[in-house]
Amino acid sequence: MAEKRDYYEILGVGREATDEEIKKAYRKLAKQYHPDTNQGDAEAEAKFKEINEANEVLSDSEKRAKYDRFGHAGVDPSYGAGQGDAYSGGFGGFGGFQDLDLGSIFDSFFGGGGTSSGARRNAPQKGDSMRSTVTLTFEEAAFGCKKRIEVDRIEKCTECDGTGAKKGTSVEACQTCHGTGQVETVQRTMIGMMRSSAPCSACHGTGRIIKSPCQACRGQGYVRRKRKIDVTFPAGIDEGQTVTISGQGSAGINGGPNGDIYATVTIRPHAMFRRRGSDVVSEVPISFVEAALGATIQVLTLDGKVEYNVPEGTQSGTVFRLKNKGIPIINSKARGDHYVTVKVEVPKNLNRKQKDILREFGQTLSPDNHTEENKSFFRKFK
Ligand SMILES: [Zn+2]
Ligand SMILES: [Zn+2]
Repeated sequence: MAEKRDYYEILGVGREATDEEIKKAYRKLAKQYHPDTNQGDAEAEAKFKEINEANEVLSDSEKRAKYDRFGHAGVDPSYGAGQGDAYSGGFGGFGGFQDLDLGSIFDSFFGGGGTSSGARRNAPQKGDSMRSTVTLTFEEAAFGCKKRIEVDRIEKCTECDGTGAKKGTSVEACQTCHGTGQVETVQRTMIGMMRSSAPCSACHGTGRIIKSPCQACRGQGYVRRKRKIDVTFPAGIDEGQTVTISGQGSAGINGGPNGDIYATVTIRPHAMFRRRGSDVVSEVPISFVEAALGATIQVLTLDGKVEYNVPEGTQSGTVFRLKNKGIPIINSKARGDHYVTVKVEVPKNLNRKQKDILREFGQTLSPDNHTEENKSFFRKFK
């Protein structure tokens, strides 16, 4: 990847330039290198692009704050992706991995507000937390599983241990602000003396001076890395529930704690089973002969096939319970039950002989052959 130039350098302004100064510098350069006035000039075109990119970041207070803190890695997710053990494949290998919210990587660094007041620059702050949605199969959610997800996070640079200073050199406290990152200015105004503090321009508000910056992180002390994280989902986890992996989010700054990862579960529908809390619900078809005479049938459960004795005279819609064949209850040894609803099938495409037998059989039916609730109903039509 081509080395990127510093955005401030591109616009020809200092690091402490005001929004107005940046705007002015941008307008001037944009006019100078505008394609309309430099037709066919490839160099001018590249410059124009560069100027716009720099302006896009520096004119946005939130992006500018990130850029100030982390350099290009802070505003460009693809920057530095080729370094380290960065992951380079598709998402295919990760099975359930679905969605990773990269947009919020930096939000917590700045409390979501986006402005980096000088006072906050030195305060310990928790690293950014990330959210990810992981799709599990019905069985994976029921019995628990391990899934590998990928996160794109900010890490402390290992080369300089987060100091930003080249190996063997050290970070010095800024002499201008005595390491506070703030300078106080006193201005004489119409209403008297105005005291205000602003980020120190000598150290860009960090309070530290790095004479020889670390090459790996360009003196930022932080790098962006893609990491694979193994997440364990406990048996019985349900749709919408979240597993928290503490401390695996982005690195904290100024000694603050690392962010976390939140992996939220969504469960793929099962062809036969539905879930009701920790119970499993399914249907099983039986023939009307089996229903009338009773039969031993096979029912598919989470534990495989089990046999069940359907008693004679079983009606369609009857529900029977297979105890402890349901879903494990999180953090307990107990399990839910499996409820099976019987669906009695009425035979189709009968041949003449079968019809004759049934007609003959029909002649033999008496009110006693009906269910209690239907007896009176059938009598009326007799
Ligand atoms: Zn470094
Ligand atoms: Zn300073």
